[in-house]
Amino acid sequence: MIFRKTKICSMCQKRKSRDRFGANKSRKDGLQFYCKICVQLSDRNDKLKYKFGITLIQYLYLYFLQKGCCALCGIAEKFFKHKLGVDHVHGERGPDAVRGLLCGPCNGWLLPMLEKVPALQNVLVQKYLKNRPLCRVVFLDNGNDE
Ligand SMILES: [Zn+2]
Ligand SMILES: [Zn+2]
Repeated sequence: MIFRKTKICSMCQKRKSRDRFGANKSRKDGLQFYCKICVQLSDRNDKLKYKFGITLIQYLYLYFLQKGCCALCGIAEKFFKHKLGVDHVHGERGPDAVRGLLCGPCNGWLLPMLEKVPALQNVLVQKYLKNRPLCRVVFLDNGNDE
């Protein structure tokens, strides 16, 4: 059987060469429905939904809103080893519980310490703790359909 050299991804609708698709033996053409990039994006979306109850679109909205920088210290993500993490109100889930995206050190120890010792909080930190940026926008998908 001769396969076509390209295939249209059913997610992004782009025509791409076969090597841009993962293998799927149960399919006629031996390839997955979605291209590798779309599979990656949907995996990331699933993880965000599972862990925080938000979608990748909501994460990216925050990312652009913060211009790719930590919401607390203002340092750009590219200066850190890891991607900016989602900071949310403890014990709560979903878009309404998200305060912003933070770098590893701010999310890991700076903010937890400031929350424990309110005397150390300045106005900016107090404002940040009340911030719920995803409450103000309406998304097509609110990430709560599980
Ligand atoms: Zn695709
Ligand atoms: Zn930071």
